[in-house]
Amino acid sequence: MHANDHPDHAAPVQIVEGTVRTRFAPSPTGYLHLGGLRTALYTYLLARKYKGSFILRIEDTDQEREVPGAVELIYKSMAAAGLHYDEGPDVGGDYGPYIQTQRRDTYLPYARQLVESGHAYYCFCTKEELESRRAEATARGETFKYDKHCLHLTPHQIQEKLQSGIPYVIRQNVPTEGTADFDDLLFGHVEAPCDTLDDNVLIKTDGLPTYNFANVVDDHLMGITHVMRGTEYLSSTPKYNLLYKALGWTPPVYVHLPVVMKDATRKLSKRYGDPSFEDLLQMGYVKEAIINFIALLGWNPGDDREFFTLEELVEAFDVRRLNKAPAIFNMEKLTWFNWEYIRRMTPEAYLQMVTPWFDQALAGKNIDYPRLAQLMQDRTEVFNRVPDMVRFLAQVPEHGLDMYVNKKQKSSLESAVTALELCRPLLAQAAPWTEEAIHDALLGAIQQAGLKNGTVLWPLRIALSGQQSTPGGAIEIAWLLGREETLARLDQGLHRLRTAQPAATAPEA
Ligand code: GLU
Repeated sequence: MHANDHPDHAAPVQIVEGTVRTRFAPSPTGYLHLGGLRTALYTYLLARKYKGSFILRIEDTDQEREVPGAVELIYKSMAAAGLHYDEGPDVGGDYGPYIQTQRRDTYLPYARQLVESGHAYYCFCTKEELESRRAEATARGETFKYDKHCLHLTPHQIQEKLQSGIPYVIRQNVPTEGTADFDDLLFGHVEAPCDTLDDNVLIKTDGLPTYNFANVVDDHLMGITHVMRGTEYLSSTPKYNLLYKALGWTPPVYVHLPVVMKDATRKLSKRYGDPSFEDLLQMGYVKEAIINFIALLGWNPGDDREFFTLEELVEAFDVRRLNKAPAIFNMEKLTWFNWEYIRRMTPEAYLQMVTPWFDQALAGKNIDYPRLAQLMQDRTEVFNRVPDMVRFLAQVPEHGLDMYVNKKQKSSLESAVTALELCRPLLAQAAPWTEEAIHDALLGAIQQAGLKNGTVLWPLRIALSGQQSTPGGAIEIAWLLGREETLARLDQGLHRLRTAQPAATAPEA
Protein backbone atom coordinates (compact mmCIF):
# COMPACT_ATOMS: atom_id res chain seq x y z
CA MET A 1 0.00 0.00 0.00
CA HIS A 2 1.17 3.43 -0.80
CA ALA A 3 -0.10 6.72 0.60
CA ASN A 4 0.71 10.14 -0.81
CA ASP A 5 0.58 13.17 1.37
CA HIS A 6 -1.65 15.98 0.38
CA PRO A 7 0.59 18.48 -1.35
CA ASP A 8 -0.86 20.98 1.04
CA HIS A 9 -2.13 19.49 4.25
CA ALA A 10 -4.33 22.49 4.90
CA ALA A 11 -6.01 22.26 1.50
CA PRO A 12 -9.57 23.57 1.65
CA VAL A 13 -12.16 20.96 2.48
CA GLN A 14 -15.45 21.74 0.83
CA ILE A 15 -18.24 20.57 3.05
CA VAL A 16 -21.73 21.90 2.48
CA GLU A 17 -23.75 22.64 5.60
CA GLY A 18 -26.74 20.42 6.18
CA THR A 19 -25.61 17.65 3.83
CA VAL A 20 -23.19 15.77 6.06
CA ARG A 21 -24.16 12.35 7.38
CA THR A 22 -21.63 10.58 9.57
CA ARG A 23 -21.85 7.38 11.52
CA PHE A 24 -20.17 5.70 14.42
CA ALA A 25 -20.24 1.98 13.75
CA PRO A 26 -18.95 -0.01 16.71
CA SER A 27 -18.97 -3.78 16.96
CA PRO A 28 -20.50 -4.96 20.23
CA THR A 29 -17.40 -6.76 21.43
CA GLY A 30 -16.98 -5.24 24.88
CA TYR A 31 -16.34 -1.91 26.48
CA LEU A 32 -15.97 1.29 24.54
CA HIS A 33 -12.22 1.74 24.42
CA LEU A 34 -10.74 5.17 24.25
CA GLY A 35 -9.73 4.94 20.60
CA GLY A 36 -13.36 4.09 19.83
CA LEU A 37 -14.59 6.96 21.92
CA ARG A 38 -12.31 9.32 20.02
CA THR A 39 -13.64 8.07 16.68
CA ALA A 40 -17.19 8.55 17.99
CA LEU A 41 -16.33 12.04 19.16
CA TYR A 42 -14.71 13.21 15.91
CA THR A 43 -17.55 11.67 13.92
CA TYR A 44 -20.05 13.50 16.11
CA LEU A 45 -18.13 16.78 15.86
CA LEU A 46 -17.98 16.64 12.09
CA ALA A 47 -21.73 16.10 11.83
CA ARG A 48 -22.58 18.81 14.33
CA LYS A 49 -20.10 21.28 12.89
CA TYR A 50 -21.82 21.13 9.51
CA LYS A 51 -25.34 20.81 10.91
CA GLY A 52 -25.66 17.33 9.51
CA SER A 53 -26.77 14.03 11.00
CA PHE A 54 -24.91 11.71 13.30
CA ILE A 55 -25.86 8.05 13.18
CA LEU A 56 -25.15 5.08 15.40
CA ARG A 57 -24.93 1.73 13.65
CA ILE A 58 -24.24 -1.55 15.42
CA GLU A 59 -21.97 -3.83 13.41
CA ASP A 60 -22.75 -7.23 14.83
CA THR A 61 -22.34 -9.52 11.84
CA ASP A 62 -19.44 -11.32 13.48
CA GLN A 63 -21.68 -13.08 15.95
CA GLU A 64 -18.87 -15.10 17.46
CA ARG A 65 -17.21 -11.98 18.77
CA GLU A 66 -20.35 -10.47 20.20
CA VAL A 67 -20.30 -9.96 23.95
CA PRO A 68 -23.69 -10.12 25.73
CA GLY A 69 -24.72 -6.73 27.01
CA ALA A 70 -22.23 -4.86 24.84
CA VAL A 71 -24.91 -3.17 22.71
CA GLU A 72 -26.59 -1.68 25.78
CA LEU A 73 -23.20 -0.60 27.01
CA ILE A 74 -22.62 1.29 23.77
CA TYR A 75 -25.90 3.17 24.22
CA LYS A 76 -25.00 3.90 27.80
CA SER A 77 -21.49 5.08 27.01
CA MET A 78 -22.65 7.32 24.19
CA ALA A 79 -25.24 8.88 26.48
CA ALA A 80 -22.68 9.28 29.26
CA ALA A 81 -20.31 10.99 26.84
CA GLY A 82 -23.09 13.31 25.68
CA LEU A 83 -22.72 12.13 22.08
CA HIS A 84 -26.37 12.14 21.12
CA TYR A 85 -27.17 10.62 17.76
CA ASP A 86 -29.98 11.58 15.44
CA GLU A 87 -30.54 8.05 14.18
CA GLY A 88 -29.76 4.72 15.75
CA PRO A 89 -31.22 1.44 16.95
CA ASP A 90 -32.70 2.89 20.11
CA VAL A 91 -33.82 6.23 18.65
CA GLY A 92 -35.07 5.15 15.20
CA GLY A 93 -34.63 7.00 11.92
CA ASP A 94 -35.53 6.76 8.25
CA TYR A 95 -32.66 4.47 7.28
CA GLY A 96 -33.12 1.66 9.80
CA PRO A 97 -32.80 -0.90 11.07
CA TYR A 98 -29.48 0.26 12.47
CA ILE A 99 -28.36 -3.14 13.72
CA GLN A 100 -26.76 -5.14 10.93
CA THR A 101 -28.12 -8.55 11.91
CA GLN A 102 -31.58 -7.02 11.60
CA ARG A 103 -30.74 -6.07 8.02
CA ARG A 104 -29.59 -9.54 7.03
CA ASP A 105 -31.84 -9.74 3.95
CA THR A 106 -30.46 -6.47 2.64
CA TYR A 107 -27.05 -7.70 1.60
CA LEU A 108 -27.53 -10.86 -0.44
CA PRO A 109 -29.23 -9.16 -3.41
CA TYR A 110 -26.26 -6.82 -3.79
CA ALA A 111 -23.86 -9.72 -3.53
CA ARG A 112 -25.81 -11.53 -6.25
CA GLN A 113 -25.68 -8.42 -8.39
CA LEU A 114 -21.90 -8.48 -8.01
CA VAL A 115 -21.81 -12.16 -8.94
CA GLU A 116 -23.78 -11.40 -12.08
CA SER A 117 -21.48 -8.57 -13.07
CA GLY A 118 -18.41 -10.75 -12.45
CA HIS A 119 -17.20 -8.77 -9.44
CA ALA A 120 -17.91 -11.61 -7.04
CA TYR A 121 -18.31 -15.40 -7.13
CA TYR A 122 -19.62 -18.32 -5.15
CA CYS A 123 -17.00 -20.26 -3.27
CA PHE A 124 -17.60 -23.76 -1.93
CA CYS A 125 -14.14 -24.49 -0.53
CA THR A 126 -14.35 -26.00 2.92
CA LYS A 127 -12.47 -24.77 5.94
CA GLU A 128 -10.25 -27.87 5.80
CA GLU A 129 -9.40 -27.35 2.14
CA LEU A 130 -8.53 -23.75 2.78
CA GLU A 131 -6.42 -24.65 5.75
CA SER A 132 -4.39 -27.24 3.91
CA ARG A 133 -3.77 -24.79 1.05
CA ARG A 134 -2.78 -22.17 3.58
CA ALA A 135 -0.32 -24.62 5.16
CA GLU A 136 1.18 -25.41 1.74
CA ALA A 137 1.60 -21.73 0.97
CA THR A 138 3.25 -21.13 4.33
CA ALA A 139 5.58 -24.07 3.69
CA ARG A 140 6.60 -22.41 0.41
CA GLY A 141 7.24 -19.23 2.36
CA GLU A 142 4.28 -17.41 0.79
CA THR A 143 1.43 -15.56 2.44
CA PHE A 144 -1.80 -17.29 1.63
CA LYS A 145 -4.26 -15.52 -0.57
CA TYR A 146 -7.38 -17.23 -1.81
CA ASP A 147 -6.37 -18.79 -5.14
CA LYS A 148 -9.64 -18.10 -6.98
CA HIS A 149 -10.21 -21.84 -7.18
CA CYS A 150 -14.01 -21.51 -7.28
CA LEU A 151 -13.91 -18.66 -9.79
CA HIS A 152 -13.23 -21.33 -12.38
CA LEU A 153 -16.30 -23.45 -11.68
CA THR A 154 -18.72 -23.66 -14.60
CA PRO A 155 -22.24 -22.18 -14.24
CA HIS A 156 -23.52 -25.74 -14.30
CA GLN A 157 -21.24 -26.87 -11.46
CA ILE A 158 -22.26 -23.84 -9.41
CA GLN A 159 -25.97 -24.51 -9.96
CA GLU A 160 -25.54 -28.11 -8.96
CA LYS A 161 -23.76 -27.27 -5.74
CA LEU A 162 -26.24 -24.56 -4.84
CA GLN A 163 -29.16 -26.89 -5.49
CA SER A 164 -27.72 -29.68 -3.41
CA GLY A 165 -27.37 -27.26 -0.49
CA ILE A 166 -23.57 -27.26 -0.21
CA PRO A 167 -22.55 -24.39 2.09
CA TYR A 168 -21.03 -21.47 0.23
CA VAL A 169 -19.62 -18.04 0.70
CA ILE A 170 -19.58 -15.21 -1.81
CA ARG A 171 -16.17 -13.72 -2.46
CA GLN A 172 -15.12 -10.45 -3.99
CA ASN A 173 -13.38 -10.99 -7.30
CA VAL A 174 -10.45 -8.60 -7.07
CA PRO A 175 -8.78 -8.01 -10.46
CA THR A 176 -5.39 -9.65 -10.81
CA GLU A 177 -3.87 -6.61 -12.45
CA GLY A 178 -3.82 -2.88 -11.98
CA THR A 179 -4.28 -0.95 -8.79
CA ALA A 180 -7.12 -0.14 -6.45
CA ASP A 181 -7.20 3.21 -4.75
CA PHE A 182 -9.11 5.83 -2.82
CA ASP A 183 -8.61 9.33 -1.45
CA ASP A 184 -8.37 9.99 2.23
CA LEU A 185 -8.78 13.40 3.73
CA LEU A 186 -5.87 12.80 6.07
CA PHE A 187 -3.67 10.31 4.23
CA GLY A 188 -4.17 11.64 0.73
CA HIS A 189 -4.23 9.30 -2.24
CA VAL A 190 -3.87 5.68 -1.18
CA GLU A 191 -3.36 2.89 -3.67
CA ALA A 192 -2.54 -0.79 -3.60
CA PRO A 193 -1.55 -3.18 -6.43
CA CYS A 194 -4.51 -5.52 -6.98
CA ASP A 195 -2.35 -8.62 -6.99
CA THR A 196 -1.59 -8.02 -3.30
CA LEU A 197 -5.28 -7.99 -2.38
CA ASP A 198 -7.14 -11.06 -1.22
CA ASP A 199 -10.59 -12.07 -2.51
CA ASN A 200 -12.45 -11.20 0.68
CA VAL A 201 -15.53 -13.07 1.73
CA LEU A 202 -18.55 -10.79 1.31
CA ILE A 203 -21.31 -13.17 2.43
CA LYS A 204 -20.51 -15.90 4.94
CA THR A 205 -21.93 -19.43 5.05
CA ASP A 206 -24.45 -18.27 7.66
CA GLY A 207 -25.85 -15.82 5.11
CA LEU A 208 -24.63 -12.79 7.04
CA PRO A 209 -22.32 -10.28 5.38
CA THR A 210 -18.78 -9.74 6.61
CA TYR A 211 -17.73 -6.31 7.78
CA ASN A 212 -15.97 -5.95 4.42
CA PHE A 213 -19.28 -5.99 2.61
CA ALA A 214 -21.72 -4.66 5.17
CA ASN A 215 -19.79 -1.42 5.70
CA VAL A 216 -20.02 -0.64 1.98
CA VAL A 217 -23.68 -1.52 1.56
CA ASP A 218 -24.79 0.23 4.72
CA ASP A 219 -22.73 3.36 4.27
CA HIS A 220 -24.28 3.67 0.82
CA LEU A 221 -27.86 2.85 1.81
CA MET A 222 -27.68 5.08 4.87
CA GLY A 223 -26.43 7.99 2.78
CA ILE A 224 -23.21 8.34 4.74
CA THR A 225 -21.11 11.16 3.31
CA HIS A 226 -18.04 10.97 5.56
CA VAL A 227 -16.56 7.81 7.03
CA MET A 228 -14.22 8.23 9.98
CA ARG A 229 -12.59 5.12 11.37
CA GLY A 230 -9.27 3.71 12.51
CA THR A 231 -6.24 3.36 10.25
CA GLU A 232 -6.54 -0.43 10.58
CA TYR A 233 -9.01 -0.10 7.69
CA LEU A 234 -6.67 1.91 5.45
CA SER A 235 -5.34 -1.18 3.72
CA SER A 236 -8.79 -2.66 3.01
CA THR A 237 -10.41 0.49 1.77
CA PRO A 238 -9.02 0.25 -1.81
CA LYS A 239 -10.96 -3.01 -2.02
CA TYR A 240 -14.10 -1.40 -0.68
CA ASN A 241 -13.76 1.23 -3.33
CA LEU A 242 -13.74 -1.49 -5.99
CA LEU A 243 -17.11 -2.56 -4.62
CA TYR A 244 -18.49 0.96 -4.78
CA LYS A 245 -17.39 1.17 -8.39
CA ALA A 246 -18.80 -2.23 -9.27
CA LEU A 247 -22.16 -1.30 -7.77
CA GLY A 248 -22.12 2.11 -9.44
CA TRP A 249 -22.15 3.97 -6.14
CA THR A 250 -20.27 7.09 -5.08
CA PRO A 251 -17.88 6.33 -2.24
CA PRO A 252 -17.99 8.50 0.89
CA VAL A 253 -15.21 10.84 1.89
CA TYR A 254 -12.78 8.84 4.02
CA VAL A 255 -10.93 10.04 7.09
CA HIS A 256 -8.80 7.33 8.65
CA LEU A 257 -7.71 8.14 12.17
CA PRO A 258 -4.32 7.09 13.53
CA VAL A 259 -4.21 4.71 16.47
CA VAL A 260 -4.10 5.81 20.05
CA MET A 261 -0.92 4.50 21.64
CA LYS A 262 -0.09 3.74 25.23
CA ASP A 263 3.53 4.65 24.56
CA ALA A 264 5.92 4.72 21.64
CA THR A 265 5.73 0.97 21.16
CA ARG A 266 2.27 -0.31 21.88
CA LYS A 267 -1.37 0.41 21.17
CA LEU A 268 -3.71 1.37 23.93
CA SER A 269 -5.55 -1.83 24.71
CA LYS A 270 -7.96 -3.21 27.23
CA ARG A 271 -6.03 -6.46 26.99
CA TYR A 272 -3.07 -4.82 28.74
CA GLY A 273 -5.28 -3.31 31.41
CA ASP A 274 -5.58 0.14 29.85
CA PRO A 275 -8.81 1.74 30.98
CA SER A 276 -11.96 1.95 28.91
CA PHE A 277 -14.25 4.96 28.97
CA GLU A 278 -16.46 3.19 31.50
CA ASP A 279 -13.44 2.41 33.68
CA LEU A 280 -12.42 6.05 33.72
CA LEU A 281 -15.90 7.15 34.71
CA GLN A 282 -15.94 4.60 37.48
CA MET A 283 -12.55 5.76 38.71
CA GLY A 284 -13.98 9.23 39.11
CA TYR A 285 -12.76 10.99 36.01
CA VAL A 286 -15.23 13.66 34.95
CA LYS A 287 -16.82 12.97 31.59
CA GLU A 288 -16.24 16.53 30.33
CA ALA A 289 -12.55 16.22 31.17
CA ILE A 290 -12.28 12.88 29.39
CA ILE A 291 -13.99 14.24 26.29
CA ASN A 292 -11.83 17.35 26.27
CA PHE A 293 -8.69 15.30 26.67
CA ILE A 294 -9.69 12.72 24.06
CA ALA A 295 -10.47 15.48 21.56
CA LEU A 296 -6.87 16.64 21.77
CA LEU A 297 -5.48 13.16 21.10
CA GLY A 298 -4.77 13.72 17.44
CA TRP A 299 -6.46 17.05 16.83
CA ASN A 300 -5.54 20.59 17.81
CA PRO A 301 -7.41 23.86 17.48
CA GLY A 302 -4.47 25.64 15.85
CA ASP A 303 -3.96 27.92 18.83
CA ASP A 304 -2.98 27.31 22.43
CA ARG A 305 -6.45 26.77 23.83
CA GLU A 306 -6.74 23.62 25.90
CA PHE A 307 -10.15 23.74 27.54
CA PHE A 308 -13.25 23.04 25.51
CA THR A 309 -16.81 22.16 26.28
CA LEU A 310 -18.47 19.84 23.78
CA GLU A 311 -20.19 22.86 22.19
CA GLU A 312 -16.87 24.67 21.91
CA LEU A 313 -15.35 21.60 20.30
CA VAL A 314 -18.12 21.61 17.70
CA GLU A 315 -17.33 25.23 16.99
CA ALA A 316 -13.55 24.75 16.81
CA PHE A 317 -13.40 21.36 15.11
CA ASP A 318 -11.70 21.29 11.73
CA VAL A 319 -10.80 18.04 9.98
CA ARG A 320 -7.76 19.73 8.47
CA ARG A 321 -6.25 19.94 11.91
CA LEU A 322 -6.32 16.21 12.54
CA ASN A 323 -2.90 14.74 13.03
CA LYS A 324 -1.66 11.78 11.01
CA ALA A 325 0.84 10.68 13.63
CA PRO A 326 -0.32 8.19 16.25
CA ALA A 327 -1.41 9.91 19.45
CA ILE A 328 -0.06 8.88 22.83
CA PHE A 329 -2.49 8.56 25.68
CA ASN A 330 -0.91 10.09 28.73
CA MET A 331 -2.74 9.23 31.93
CA GLU A 332 -0.97 11.96 33.93
CA LYS A 333 -2.14 14.55 31.46
CA LEU A 334 -5.69 13.26 31.69
CA THR A 335 -5.45 13.42 35.47
CA TRP A 336 -4.25 17.00 35.25
CA PHE A 337 -7.21 17.85 32.99
CA ASN A 338 -9.53 16.17 35.44
CA TRP A 339 -8.11 18.13 38.34
CA GLU A 340 -8.57 21.37 36.42
CA TYR A 341 -12.17 20.44 35.66
CA ILE A 342 -12.85 19.62 39.29
CA ARG A 343 -11.34 22.91 40.46
CA ARG A 344 -13.60 24.77 38.09
CA MET A 345 -16.79 23.10 39.26
CA THR A 346 -19.31 25.05 41.29
CA PRO A 347 -19.19 24.05 44.97
CA GLU A 348 -22.67 22.58 44.54
CA ALA A 349 -21.66 20.41 41.59
CA TYR A 350 -18.54 19.26 43.40
CA LEU A 351 -20.50 18.40 46.53
CA GLN A 352 -22.94 16.38 44.54
CA MET A 353 -20.20 14.41 42.78
CA VAL A 354 -18.04 13.87 45.83
CA THR A 355 -20.81 12.73 48.20
CA PRO A 356 -20.80 9.03 47.21
CA TRP A 357 -17.00 9.02 47.54
CA PHE A 358 -17.22 10.58 51.02
CA ASP A 359 -19.81 7.94 51.88
CA GLN A 360 -17.35 5.18 51.04
CA ALA A 361 -15.16 6.27 53.92
CA LEU A 362 -17.48 8.20 56.19
CA ALA A 363 -20.93 6.62 56.00
CA GLY A 364 -22.58 6.75 59.41
CA LYS A 365 -20.15 9.38 60.72
CA ASN A 366 -21.42 12.80 61.59
CA ILE A 367 -19.20 14.84 59.29
CA ASP A 368 -20.28 18.09 57.65
CA TYR A 369 -19.99 17.24 53.94
CA PRO A 370 -20.36 20.76 52.54
CA ARG A 371 -17.45 22.02 54.66
CA LEU A 372 -15.35 18.97 53.92
CA ALA A 373 -16.13 19.43 50.23
CA GLN A 374 -14.84 23.01 50.41
CA LEU A 375 -11.60 21.74 51.88
CA MET A 376 -11.28 18.91 49.38
CA GLN A 377 -12.22 20.47 46.06
CA ASP A 378 -8.80 21.92 45.22
CA ARG A 379 -7.07 18.72 46.25
CA THR A 380 -9.19 16.30 44.27
CA GLU A 381 -7.41 15.08 41.16
CA VAL A 382 -9.58 12.01 40.65
CA PHE A 383 -12.58 11.10 42.77
CA ASN A 384 -11.43 7.59 43.57
CA ARG A 385 -8.61 9.08 45.63
CA VAL A 386 -11.08 10.86 47.91
CA PRO A 387 -12.03 8.04 50.32
CA ASP A 388 -8.40 7.48 51.34
CA MET A 389 -7.91 11.21 51.83
CA VAL A 390 -10.83 11.59 54.24
CA ARG A 391 -10.84 8.23 55.96
CA PHE A 392 -8.90 9.65 58.91
CA LEU A 393 -12.08 11.48 59.89
CA ALA A 394 -13.73 8.15 60.58
CA GLN A 395 -10.76 6.66 62.37
CA VAL A 396 -7.24 7.80 63.18
CA PRO A 397 -4.88 5.69 61.12
CA GLU A 398 -1.98 4.03 62.88
CA HIS A 399 0.96 6.38 62.96
CA GLY A 400 4.38 6.60 64.53
CA LEU A 401 5.21 9.21 67.12
CA ASP A 402 8.03 10.47 64.94
CA MET A 403 5.31 12.32 62.99
CA TYR A 404 5.18 14.84 65.82
CA VAL A 405 8.80 15.74 65.20
CA ASN A 406 9.09 18.47 62.59
CA LYS A 407 12.06 20.81 62.45
CA LYS A 408 10.36 23.39 60.29
CA GLN A 409 7.43 23.65 62.68
CA LYS A 410 9.82 23.58 65.65
CA SER A 411 7.95 20.59 66.96
CA SER A 412 9.54 17.83 69.03
CA LEU A 413 8.07 15.10 71.21
CA GLU A 414 8.46 17.32 74.28
CA SER A 415 7.00 20.41 72.64
CA ALA A 416 4.13 18.27 71.33
CA VAL A 417 3.18 17.33 74.88
CA THR A 418 3.26 20.99 75.91
CA ALA A 419 1.20 21.95 72.86
CA LEU A 420 -1.50 19.36 73.41
CA GLU A 421 -1.68 20.24 77.08
CA LEU A 422 -2.14 23.87 76.12
CA CYS A 423 -4.89 23.03 73.60
CA ARG A 424 -6.91 20.68 75.74
CA PRO A 425 -8.76 23.12 78.01
CA LEU A 426 -9.19 25.59 75.18
CA LEU A 427 -10.87 22.98 73.01
CA ALA A 428 -12.92 21.77 75.95
CA GLN A 429 -14.25 25.28 76.45
CA ALA A 430 -14.37 26.97 73.06
CA ALA A 431 -17.90 28.22 72.56
CA PRO A 432 -19.80 28.19 70.37
CA TRP A 433 -18.18 25.23 68.54
CA THR A 434 -17.24 27.14 65.41
CA GLU A 435 -14.01 27.31 63.47
CA GLU A 436 -13.80 30.97 64.36
CA ALA A 437 -14.10 30.38 68.09
CA ILE A 438 -11.60 27.52 67.96
CA HIS A 439 -9.24 29.65 65.93
CA ASP A 440 -9.45 32.62 68.27
CA ALA A 441 -9.03 30.52 71.40
CA LEU A 442 -6.02 28.63 70.09
CA LEU A 443 -4.22 31.50 68.42
CA GLY A 444 -4.78 33.80 71.38
CA ALA A 445 -3.24 31.28 73.74
CA ILE A 446 -0.35 30.52 71.39
CA GLN A 447 0.48 34.20 71.16
CA GLN A 448 0.28 34.64 74.91
CA ALA A 449 2.57 31.71 75.46
CA GLY A 450 5.04 33.23 73.00
CA LEU A 451 5.00 30.10 70.82
CA LYS A 452 5.01 29.69 67.07
CA ASN A 453 1.70 28.65 65.49
CA GLY A 454 3.27 25.58 63.91
CA THR A 455 4.75 24.38 67.18
CA VAL A 456 1.22 23.97 68.51
CA LEU A 457 -0.92 23.37 65.43
CA TRP A 458 1.36 20.75 63.91
CA PRO A 459 1.16 18.32 66.85
CA LEU A 460 -2.54 19.04 67.20
CA ARG A 461 -3.13 18.08 63.59
CA ILE A 462 -1.11 14.89 64.07
CA ALA A 463 -3.09 13.94 67.16
CA LEU A 464 -6.41 14.59 65.41
CA SER A 465 -5.62 13.01 62.07
CA GLY A 466 -2.62 10.73 62.38
CA GLN A 467 -1.43 12.31 59.12
CA GLN A 468 1.05 14.96 58.11
CA SER A 469 -1.07 16.17 55.26
CA THR A 470 -4.79 16.73 55.48
CA PRO A 471 -7.53 18.71 53.80
CA GLY A 472 -7.68 21.76 56.06
CA GLY A 473 -5.52 22.23 59.14
CA ALA A 474 -5.92 21.43 62.83
CA ILE A 475 -8.70 23.95 63.34
CA GLU A 476 -10.88 22.76 60.46
CA ILE A 477 -10.33 19.13 61.41
CA ALA A 478 -11.25 19.78 65.03
CA TRP A 479 -14.45 21.46 63.95
CA LEU A 480 -15.35 18.64 61.54
CA LEU A 481 -14.73 15.99 64.20
CA GLY A 482 -16.77 17.78 66.86
CA ARG A 483 -15.70 18.59 70.37
CA GLU A 484 -16.09 15.14 71.83
CA GLU A 485 -14.11 13.27 69.19
CA THR A 486 -11.51 16.04 69.11
CA LEU A 487 -10.87 15.73 72.84
CA ALA A 488 -10.82 11.94 72.69
CA ARG A 489 -8.20 12.00 69.92
CA LEU A 490 -6.17 14.66 71.69
CA ASP A 491 -6.18 12.63 74.91
CA GLN A 492 -5.15 9.54 73.04
CA GLY A 493 -2.24 11.44 71.46
CA LEU A 494 -1.16 12.88 74.78
CA HIS A 495 -1.30 9.49 76.40
CA ARG A 496 0.87 7.93 73.72
CA LEU A 497 3.35 10.76 73.86
CA ARG A 498 3.64 10.68 77.63
CA THR A 499 4.03 6.95 77.90
CA ALA A 500 6.36 6.59 74.96
CA GLN A 501 8.45 9.67 75.52
CA PRO A 502 11.38 8.11 77.40
CA ALA A 503 11.72 5.25 74.94
CA ALA A 504 11.31 7.51 71.92
CA THR A 505 13.98 9.90 73.12
CA ALA A 506 16.26 7.12 74.33
CA PRO A 507 18.55 6.98 71.27
CA GLU A 508 19.57 10.59 71.85
CA ALA A 509 20.35 10.03 75.54
N1 GLU B 1 -17.26 -2.09 13.24
C1 GLU B 1 -16.00 -1.49 12.94
C2 GLU B 1 -15.18 -1.41 14.21
O1 GLU B 1 -15.73 -1.49 15.30
C3 GLU B 1 -16.20 -0.10 12.41
C4 GLU B 1 -15.30 0.32 11.34
C5 GLU B 1 -15.96 1.43 10.55
O2 GLU B 1 -16.29 2.45 11.17
O3 GLU B 1 -16.17 1.27 9.34
O4 GLU B 1 -13.99 -1.27 14.14
